[in-house]
Amino acid sequence: MKLKTLSLLMAAGLASFAGHTAVTDAMLANDAKTTGDVLSWGIGTEGQRFSPLKTINTKNVGKLVPAWSFSFGGEKQRGQESQPLVHNGKMFVTGSYSRIYALDVKTGKKLWKYEHRLPEGIMPCCDVINRGAALYDNLVIFATLDAQLVALNQETGEVVWKEKIDDYAAGYSASAAPLIAEGLLLTGVSGGEFGIVGRVEARNPKTGDLVWVRPTVEGHMGYTYDKDGNKKENGISGTRNATWTGDLWKTGGAATWLGGTYDAKTGLAYFGTGNPAPWNSHTRKGDNLFSSATVAIDVKTGQIKWHYQTTPHDGWDFDGVNEFVTFDLNGKRMGAKADRNGFFYVLDATNGKLENAFPFVKKITWAKGIDLKTGRPIENPESRPGDPAAGDGKKGKTVFSAPSFLGGKNQMPMAYSPNTGLFYVPANEWGMDIWNEPIGYKKGAAFLGAGFTIKTVFDDYIGAMRAVDPKTGKIVWEVKNNAPLWGGVLTTAGDLVFWGTPEGYLQAADAKTGKILWKFQTGSGVVAPPVTWEDKGEQYVAVVSGWGGAVPLWGGEVAKKVNFLEQGGSVWVFKLVK
Ligand code: CA
Ligand code: CA
Repeated sequence: MKLKTLSLLMAAGLASFAGHTAVTDAMLANDAKTTGDVLSWGIGTEGQRFSPLKTINTKNVGKLVPAWSFSFGGEKQRGQESQPLVHNGKMFVTGSYSRIYALDVKTGKKLWKYEHRLPEGIMPCCDVINRGAALYDNLVIFATLDAQLVALNQETGEVVWKEKIDDYAAGYSASAAPLIAEGLLLTGVSGGEFGIVGRVEARNPKTGDLVWVRPTVEGHMGYTYDKDGNKKENGISGTRNATWTGDLWKTGGAATWLGGTYDAKTGLAYFGTGNPAPWNSHTRKGDNLFSSATVAIDVKTGQIKWHYQTTPHDGWDFDGVNEFVTFDLNGKRMGAKADRNGFFYVLDATNGKLENAFPFVKKITWAKGIDLKTGRPIENPESRPGDPAAGDGKKGKTVFSAPSFLGGKNQMPMAYSPNTGLFYVPANEWGMDIWNEPIGYKKGAAFLGAGFTIKTVFDDYIGAMRAVDPKTGKIVWEVKNNAPLWGGVLTTAGDLVFWGTPEGYLQAADAKTGKILWKFQTGSGVVAPPVTWEDKGEQYVAVVSGWGGAVPLWGGEVAKKVNFLEQGGSVWVFKLVK
């Protein structure tokens, strides 16, 4: 073969390769270190949301300007909680109402969009949000509000496979970004307010076929599936009726609605679980495992390796779904979680042993602290809403409880910087009046047995971005925010922390001091986590803007701090001005 022909062939081969760079397990395992792409929710499956990039840093971040912005369009302008992914010259970003877009990452030009056809009767508890997609091979995969998974061709937006997770009419939905670990697609379910059964499912990401299912309510059978879809029992989760009385485990909640993280060093996937159902705790004696907990699942076997319950016998809807972020501390692999119940936990990531726990919010009434020996909370019994049966049978004693069920932290993911050794936690200070009522399970109906009013605690702020030292429990700095914070965090080797506010700002602070160095008004509230990447020596930062989520739906007296905010739906990309 002549040299000229060979080089032409090679050029052609390289071009087609550049057009179809398949996302591999190795690429996903390295995602936190590779700065040219963002392949996973969490910027690495460990969820640290730390970028080694420092082209943008404390000295020049003031020169950040918009590169482009893209509108999700339509009339569906609300509740944008999505984290964009960047790969192969494209940005993949999901929008409210189960929509996904592929954009030219350089220009913001729309390449394709997919709008999932949603049935009338979907039952999302907390707005029509979606938190992002997963990339695998040539696919982009996301979950929908009618509890399906959809995998699309990254190039064309064509549907390659679609699988139903469960029955939306029974209250199931799905909004978390799927997690890819060890070549498996790991997803959870939403619907804890409807008495669904929480679980983690593993699928073949190329086909959508189930590989294993692990329920997160104690007493349910787990299964593995062979190539033909035949299922085989894989052991009950825990022991039936050990922490649940009667048949209550059949409608026990523990929804895995925020998805999970994965650490290759432990081989474990960490999923947080939501409230036990119903909210009225007097109807269900016991700890109600594995609700309001972190469960660590061996990805290869689909078995729960360990669990740590942050709120045993939860009576406040303190969903323990918050992300479990793994990191190195004192030569050990640890995991940290800022729980909705107001406490920050540091656990040994290999075995779930509690190493440290301390408050990250100022007002906590439900527990006096966490006993580091037993790992259990020292509960304040007066802060548990009363049993309706102890009074007139219709309504139990109302109590004031802090945090409110909207949590010391909710869905907005924190970030960890190995450079500063600090976690950056978007915290909120608020409480609630809460009471219990009698309740029975009815398919597709709210299964709460509780009423509530959210209350402010301090006049001048609800939100507070806090830099938390996991060794000492000290809050090193904080930046207060009038409205509750509801967006996630990004930190970088440029010693920056980026986060958005409901008031519409994306802002950057010095990671060591909390001094605000830059902010930009995006035109609607930011309730999503920012990301960063580089291309040809230029560093970019992106965030989705669009007010919504649980606060405007359930915020009670907080409304006065947020009711003037406008809804939206767009993604913004920034770079340094030349
Ligand atoms: Ca990467
Ligand atoms: Ca809940």
